[in-house]
Amino acid sequence: MDLKSNEPFWLIKNGLLATYPSLHQDKTCDILIVGGGITGALIAHQCVSMGKNCILIDKREIANGSSAATTSMLQYEIDKPLYQLMELIGTEGATACYDACGKAIDKIGLLASKIRSKAGFRVKDSLYYASRKKDIPWLEQEFNARKSAGFKVIWLTAEEIGKRYGLRDTFGGILSKQGGSIDAFCFAHELLLNSVKQGLEIFDKTELIGVKHNARTNVATLSTGVKIRAKKIIYCIGYETVGMIPEKFVDLLSTFAIVSEVDVSLYQRYKDLLIWNTSDPYLYMRTTDDGRFLIGGEDEEFRDPAKRDALVEKKSIKLEGAFHKIFNKPFYTDFSWAGTFGVTKDGLPYIGEHKAFKNSYFVCGFGGNGITFSVTGMEMVAYWLEKKTHPLAGWFKFGR
Ligand SMILES: Cc1cc2nc3c(=O)[nH]c(=O)nc-3n(C[C@H](O)[C@H](O)[C@H](O)COP(=O)(O)OP(=O)(O)OC[C@H]3O[C@@H](n4cnc5c(N)ncnc54)[C@H](O)[C@@H]3O)c2cc1C
Repeated sequence: MDLKSNEPFWLIKNGLLATYPSLHQDKTCDILIVGGGITGALIAHQCVSMGKNCILIDKREIANGSSAATTSMLQYEIDKPLYQLMELIGTEGATACYDACGKAIDKIGLLASKIRSKAGFRVKDSLYYASRKKDIPWLEQEFNARKSAGFKVIWLTAEEIGKRYGLRDTFGGILSKQGGSIDAFCFAHELLLNSVKQGLEIFDKTELIGVKHNARTNVATLSTGVKIRAKKIIYCIGYETVGMIPEKFVDLLSTFAIVSEVDVSLYQRYKDLLIWNTSDPYLYMRTTDDGRFLIGGEDEEFRDPAKRDALVEKKSIKLEGAFHKIFNKPFYTDFSWAGTFGVTKDGLPYIGEHKAFKNSYFVCGFGGNGITFSVTGMEMVAYWLEKKTHPLAGWFKFGR
């Protein structure tokens, strides 16, 4: 599956941060982690921290899947508004899911400081504003749901948003004290380099092409003609999981992003804020750690990579236009790209076991919270390895 167009900003900004060999001899390990994006990097960190003997493989270069294209907003807010998620799965479950995403942001901060990350993790406020007058009633309902659930939110009127942040074209919105951003491509590399020091073996350009499940071991066959025997396999293969799981569980679509030239004044004003709105599809914005402004959105409900990439220029112009409408300033694009994106029925990820795969676990952080979900996945993997049931397991399981 072609997950992204050619020029995602992070690949160019960071270059080749690390390179690993492909695998050409049989191996044995406790845990085989398949996929070396941000999810695989987090899960590998968890497993080696628990003293497990692990091997990680990736069919591409490390972090060259969706983790190279992501815009890496870290949000406690899930694509499905809290009040709607409460209607779907109940107050307790919905609040727990929002809460887990909030805690995941803190966890990323702790991890980043522990490994002395240079991936630009930054704690930010988050502004979710109504871009259409008709959205105000449900956004107020959302505000009340979040407030009752104990999240730190304040309501800002259109005038207050204009005064504080200089945004035009809003009708009011929710300001939350919980958000962040990071360069996920760089962070994935840093986490993996750190895990290598603790014994993780990494092989890229090494694709898993088949698995045989025996009573105690899984025998993985690789594209390089060799095998890995592993007690357990953890699949962190992002949107390509759709090729493995027999039933349909996620809708794949195309999404677009642009990043500006370095702009000191824009950076200074917005460096501590995530911005997103109620448009359909929604528009989202943040600064990058090297002083640029990033905008994403303009989703299209198809996955065809050729059709997607052919739209990059047109979508960039639309995103620039949206910026101009909101900020009354021109936007000077330096890089634009497109990527595949996955949306689930309830905005929640799929993390857990699947009946068709023995001794195996899937961590599929889908939706706008892909990264924070994968952080929760670390904790869930720890529970699974200790044969315990994680409190969120029921909300995230396959077949729910
Ligand atoms: C434009 C865009 C914007 C986004 N914005 C946000 C955002 O603001 N916040 C957020 O949280 N999320 C966002 N997301 C989602 C986020 O990017 C993903 O959730 C995240 O990158 C998924 O990481 P991953 O490691 O699971 O998948 P990937 O990065 O795709 O990694 C999976 C890896 O598995 C490897 N692989 C697949 N099959 C095999 C196999 N058979 N054998 C070996 N290796 C295999 C692939 O090569 C790949 O490297 C965005 C996504 C896009 C595209």
